[in-house]
Amino acid sequence: MKKEDLKKRVVVKVGTHVLSENGELCKKRFRALCKFLVALSKKNEVILVSSAAIVSGYSRIKLDKSNLANRQALAAIGQPTLMHTYDKYFKKYGKLVAQILISGHNFDSRRATKKAKSAVDALLENGVIPIINENDATATEEIVFGDNDQLSSRVAYYFEADMLIILSDIDGYYDKDPKRYSDAKVRKVVNSIKQKELELPKTAGSEFGTGGIVTKLKAADYLLKHHKKMFMASGFDLSDIKSYMLKGVHKGGTLFSSKEDV
Ligand code: ADP
Repeated sequence: MKKEDLKKRVVVKVGTHVLSENGELCKKRFRALCKFLVALSKKNEVILVSSAAIVSGYSRIKLDKSNLANRQALAAIGQPTLMHTYDKYFKKYGKLVAQILISGHNFDSRRATKKAKSAVDALLENGVIPIINENDATATEEIVFGDNDQLSSRVAYYFEADMLIILSDIDGYYDKDPKRYSDAKVRKVVNSIKQKELELPKTAGSEFGTGGIVTKLKAADYLLKHHKKMFMASGFDLSDIKSYMLKGVHKGGTLFSSKEDV
């Protein structure tokens, strides 16, 4: 097979805020996301990293979220509901989905990484969409301090994807916090990330969000250092990411790519 015939592998990470509304999973956005991922999978191998297990659990049982054990329980309750929702929407397009729960240990040796990657490779070869999440119920550091942004950057690197797409509640990386400054502008291309940008305060955009912009910048920084690209766009309105990935036109959203890799 010629190199240009090979499908490029992309990891798509979707944040909690995009997938939920008022403490419930948002069906309208699931539908739109699955439709886009099916279109994307015609020319790419698609791996999805999905947040929203905790909010999904909370939609079933209202446990006190301020308590860590309860958040672990909510993640455990919500994960199957989340997968069921994806299965329902992907099934309409004849697509199968698979759940992969990752913890740091999956990447802590070459042997472990190879094992996890071979499962992902087998799924992709058979046209199945792997849906990855951190194993929240047992990987406590993730819930306490963490985020799927950095997890997805490791997934992109270790599973040898060409790029990571982050679909967020914000339509790109701004030159300053757009919630505080009305004149903030989206940066279209970012070639490198400065240390002071990685030290910005944590500002998750929603009640269930954990990341904020800094975890996205950390993910981008990791990928830039490993010569991979990242694209950050809105998950509420998919027109920018559709335009970039399906038509090759960069209208909106931020491309993180080091100069020599453009
Ligand atoms: P997600 O739930 O998609 O992971 P978050 O809500 O955790 O996303 O993080 C995105 C939020 O980060 C934005 O809604 C915005 O309020 C905040 N933010 C702070 N500074 C910036 C910036 N320079 N550019 C974009 N977003 C920023």
